[in-house]
Amino acid sequence: MNKWNMIVDVAKCENCHNCTLSVKDEHVDNNFPGYAAPQPQHGHDWIKITRNVRGSSHMVDTAYLPTMCNHCDDAPCLKVGGKDGAVKKRRDGIMIIDPEKAKGRKDIAESCPHNAIAWNEELEIPQIWIFDAHLLDNGWKEPRASQCCPTDALEAVKISDSEMKERVVNDKLETLLPELGLKPRIYYKNLHRYAKHFLGGTIVTEASGQRECLSGATVNLQQDNKIIDTQSSDMFGDFKFDKLEAGHHYTIEVTCVDHSIKTMDVALGKSIYLGEIELT
Ligand code: SF4
Ligand code: SF4
Repeated sequence: MNKWNMIVDVAKCENCHNCTLSVKDEHVDNNFPGYAAPQPQHGHDWIKITRNVRGSSHMVDTAYLPTMCNHCDDAPCLKVGGKDGAVKKRRDGIMIIDPEKAKGRKDIAESCPHNAIAWNEELEIPQIWIFDAHLLDNGWKEPRASQCCPTDALEAVKISDSEMKERVVNDKLETLLPELGLKPRIYYKNLHRYAKHFLGGTIVTEASGQRECLSGATVNLQQDNKIIDTQSSDMFGDFKFDKLEAGHHYTIEVTCVDHSIKTMDVALGKSIYLGEIELT
């Protein structure tokens, strides 16, 4: 049976908030019995966008991460609220928190490790983004969030779980908090742009009394005395190793014909631009 999944391409999200606004437009002041009670006008973002800025100087990038209910197949919220029907997993993979049966159930709101459940103080119910199930059940081909995303950062796909597994491998998709094994149905492409770190710098040299960028220098990235990646500095002398884990020690070794070798040890806490590295 085909089930719903959402693929979020972090590299394409431009922080326009159309997706967040589409949820508000759909749910503020609107009641969908059996699906969702109205969303409060303020304080709830059932699709949230968070920002991460990496690096400094000219080597800086910003990534935005849209997050929402992951519609997990092995969900703690379902374990807490599933027995009495307050939380339901549909056959198409979508999770629904029943607005009537979940009344007063703050324990459901507190059960989500992704913090994807918002507590509605006024109605005293836990609420999530319901993948626009109320629209899909009425013939919509995809949720409003993906439909209105101007950069195609959101792609809703309804395919079998085995087809989705292939897609995960082919497109190198990841999930949030994979260590918890909750089997989320929201997948991320280019997640490293938000969750991993880079180490970069600019190779320069002195020629004819002038400091200039050195292109074509070989830059080796080493860890535990092993080369794990190699790059050539570009026309601006820049190199940048991405997708690195924080909390590790790395060594940069720079070589170039007619120049001395330069090495640097770096304890990577977060993305770092090392500045100019001069070869003599
Ligand atoms: S609509 Fe698309 S580009 Fe805009 S914030 Fe949402 S995911 Fe990002
Ligand atoms: S993200 Fe949270 S609320 Fe959504 S299904 Fe998973 S555990 Fe439940």
